[in-house]
Amino acid sequence: MFNIDLWMQTGWFNKCVALTSISNNEKDMKNKLMDTTTTYGITRRKFLWVTSASTAGFLLGCATNPVTGKSQLMLVSEDQEIEIDRQHSPYQFSTDYGSIQDKSLNNYIDQTGKKISGLTHRPHMPFSFRGVNAAYVNAYAFPGGSIAATRGILVELKNEAELAALLGHEIGHVNARHTAAQMSKSSLTNTLIGGIAAIAGTQSAGLGSLTSQLGMLGAGAFLAHYSRDNERQADALGLEYMVKAGYNPNGFVGLMNMLRSMSKHEPSAIELMFSTHPMSDERYNTAVHTVQTKYRHAQNYPFYRERYMDHTVKLRAMKGVIEDMQKGERVMAQKKYDEAETYYNKALKQAPDDYAGLVMMAKCQIVREKYSEAGWFVEKAKKVYPQEAQAYYLSGFVNMNQKKYDSAHEDFKTYEKILPGNPNITFYQGLSLEKMNRVSESADKYYRYLKVVNQGEKAKYAYQRLVEWGYVKR
Ligand SMILES: [Zn+2]
Repeated sequence: MFNIDLWMQTGWFNKCVALTSISNNEKDMKNKLMDTTTTYGITRRKFLWVTSASTAGFLLGCATNPVTGKSQLMLVSEDQEIEIDRQHSPYQFSTDYGSIQDKSLNNYIDQTGKKISGLTHRPHMPFSFRGVNAAYVNAYAFPGGSIAATRGILVELKNEAELAALLGHEIGHVNARHTAAQMSKSSLTNTLIGGIAAIAGTQSAGLGSLTSQLGMLGAGAFLAHYSRDNERQADALGLEYMVKAGYNPNGFVGLMNMLRSMSKHEPSAIELMFSTHPMSDERYNTAVHTVQTKYRHAQNYPFYRERYMDHTVKLRAMKGVIEDMQKGERVMAQKKYDEAETYYNKALKQAPDDYAGLVMMAKCQIVREKYSEAGWFVEKAKKVYPQEAQAYYLSGFVNMNQKKYDSAHEDFKTYEKILPGNPNITFYQGLSLEKMNRVSESADKYYRYLKVVNQGEKAKYAYQRLVEWGYVKR
């Protein structure tokens, strides 16, 4: 029942204009809403598309695909690809517990990626490569060229050629502009065009109660879901690129083989990767065949096994810890919280300062409503990785539940500083201010929240407060 039409009926704008500090974009927003109501029947997808595209300098037309050289209908400009990447990739990295703190490993991954990306179809794109702390097995690319691989997958690779294959495949997705092409399809359009707001308003399914309870952004919420044709093309490009950069193409076969066998032995750890990058025996067989035919000449190229092993010494020492965290996440998803705690305990016993492990344990305690225990883990997480945002979110949530509203407010402010633009944080700032009886500041936050999210429990709550306080006339 809480929808745009309702806003229009309530005289919302008349009252809110009085909040001078927040009236800057009023006209703009009103116009957007008017558009929606006058073109009645427009879908939400289309609405999000039109409104944000117009602000971003929307261009509709044909473009030459940088990979195929063929002309294709392209709704998204290169500048928009870069902008979407800039806005969304930091959230995904934070969901994945931030970049690996091991600087030398991260530099090595970045340099390996850049060695390849410089030789590809779009060398001018602002490519960047990093490892992220998540334990599950995955790698992904944003359309501007921000690429990440999780610890879970890095620990399974056997040499630099396999890393080059992994990064090459992701570069393939960027260069063939798969995300931009997918943007004409509904789910991703909602996510990328609607941005954080679309996700905050409608949680993705299957993320478990905790994620929705906390209003957190789900693990794969920002990732493009590629088609099988996209995968075939990214594989072909990945192979081409890695050979061009001087790597043994059998690294690609090794990567495919590892993913194939993991899908049999650890399917839950690799689930998200396969939901975004469809895997099949066909992909493996094609790789074997292409390496033996098209890239026969490169069979003696190096794998750089030692170089990979040298750079991943510390990471590989964590393999058991990473596996315990994977197991913990699996049973968490099944709501077996006692079992999850056991696995996280085991992981933290071996690696007491591991940020991802601490945050996972904090979530496990929060979901059982053990807030003082959760507080302990989350405080430690903030100390070991103060530049990473997620722990502040959880800390704010824990503090709210312990009625420490002042500390909660500080946590949300810190999160906002590190990772600006998350409307859930705006809502929680409003809530913590409300609890401290700072009504006008709270109203300001609720208003800001409602400007970007207009559905769901939080929106209803914020709206009701504004009505109650007389900022909105019924
Ligand atoms: Zn892929």
